[in-house]
Amino acid sequence: MNYDVIIIGAGPGGIFSAFELVKQKPELKVAVFEAGHSLEKRRCPIDGEKVKSCIACKTCSIMSGFGGAGAFSDGKYNITNDFGGTLYEYIGKKKALELMHYVDEINMTYGGEGTKLYSTAGTKFKKLCIQNDLHLLDASVRHLGTDINYIVLENLYNFLKDKVEFFFDTPVEHVLSTENGYEVQTAKESYSCEKCVISVGRSGSKWMEKVCGEMGIPTKSNRVDIGVRVELPAEVFSHLTDELYESKIVYRTKEYGDLVRTFCMNPKGAVVNENTNGIITVNGHSYEDPAKQTENTNFALLVAKHFSEPFKDSNGYGESIARLSNMLGGGVIVQRFGDLIRGRRSTEDRIEGAFITPTLNATPGDLSLVLPKRILDGIIEMLYALDKVAPGTANDDTLLYGVEVKFYNMEVEVGSDLMAKDYKGLYIIGDGSGITHSLSHASASGVLVAREIAE
Ligand SMILES: Cc1cc2nc3c(=O)[nH]c(=O)nc-3n(C[C@H](O)[C@H](O)[C@H](O)COP(=O)(O)OP(=O)(O)OC[C@H]3O[C@@H](n4cnc5c(N)ncnc54)[C@H](O)[C@@H]3O)c2cc1C
Repeated sequence: MNYDVIIIGAGPGGIFSAFELVKQKPELKVAVFEAGHSLEKRRCPIDGEKVKSCIACKTCSIMSGFGGAGAFSDGKYNITNDFGGTLYEYIGKKKALELMHYVDEINMTYGGEGTKLYSTAGTKFKKLCIQNDLHLLDASVRHLGTDINYIVLENLYNFLKDKVEFFFDTPVEHVLSTENGYEVQTAKESYSCEKCVISVGRSGSKWMEKVCGEMGIPTKSNRVDIGVRVELPAEVFSHLTDELYESKIVYRTKEYGDLVRTFCMNPKGAVVNENTNGIITVNGHSYEDPAKQTENTNFALLVAKHFSEPFKDSNGYGESIARLSNMLGGGVIVQRFGDLIRGRRSTEDRIEGAFITPTLNATPGDLSLVLPKRILDGIIEMLYALDKVAPGTANDDTLLYGVEVKFYNMEVEVGSDLMAKDYKGLYIIGDGSGITHSLSHASASGVLVAREIAE
């Protein structure tokens, strides 16, 4: 055996597996294979001047490398079972929360101390929301911010680098089951291990699907969330964001009964491009450092789309819609809410004339040519509903960027220990398993399997 444990993917799931293994069993020989670069080499070429939009790099530095998709994220660790994944279905709510709190403690020890933990407990906004048929979900949110999140990752890497062997820029191509464990094949070499943890996140979703197909591991996929990123002056949401930082609000549309929710709120943040398997969608982040903050707040409005038999390719459906926006806009499209309502496209002039400066250089256009009617209607209804708790949300100049898609990896069939069905010692964790969709849940799943292995 080359290694006792091989971890595939150095996102939060992989990092926390490695961290906990080192803590619990320092004598184990552990390797981490990562398709992307080491942390200091991760750089998105978009500088707003020479390179204004995504040039589709071979490995996307936003999504891949040490720190995973979370490295340049807003670093919001939501400590809750209400959203962010369904880890609790495997291990119970209490244990899931304990693991998330443990991850928070580690983050505090490795550079996050002093950052704020927000909570919805006892907030007056719960009442205000419910009075307007909006539902505020319960959570504690640790906001590290993009800058502190980076420092925490740097410190975790410095702790791990002499104890774990890292292989960067080394995508794993195949995982084979052997008599004593697993063989992990890269383009150049193969490595053997007794136990293998796969934590390849969303960027590794296609690869994960292939591996499950090759190994005959059952999977299912039937959900995708589609919507837009909303950007408005920070003052509009400041009463909510000052107290809660992030509010996850759910609304059931009157017209279709669909659920629309706010997602990933970034007070005084910036809207950014996201490249998933060559498709450009939109996302957002913000900084803890006031010097880097903007005058705008952004958040996603997403409509959950569940499919029933015989359709199985929910991600393919989301990709097709995102491709349509890429086709029309060459990337992300931006539209003023006022233009959308009046049935006209936004133009450079209309965007320039708005009382808000966009933080992302997107192509002015018409989202009604991209988003299915049912989804767009849901988003419009939700904007008017939010306008009642945050007046100004439905102003003409509110910017909508599209499309934002939350791809859900197909859910891999694993047991309560996150071990793949019929494959002893093969663990599938984090967003790549389809079980988690967030930093805190992915990290918690890493700790969980490390403890299983250590035992
Ligand atoms: C811009 C942005 C902002 C976000 N903000 C937040 C937030 O504030 N809060 C929150 O909770 N979540 C946020 N998220 C989501 C969060 O980042 C993910 O839920 C989390 O990173 C999942 O962790 P993971 O370890 O499962 O996967 P990932 O972080 O995706 O890491 C997987 C790693 O595996 C590597 N990999 C893939 N395939 C292979 C292969 N074949 N071989 C080797 N390596 C491979 C990838 O390169 C990647 O580095 C954000 C995401 C983005 C993109």
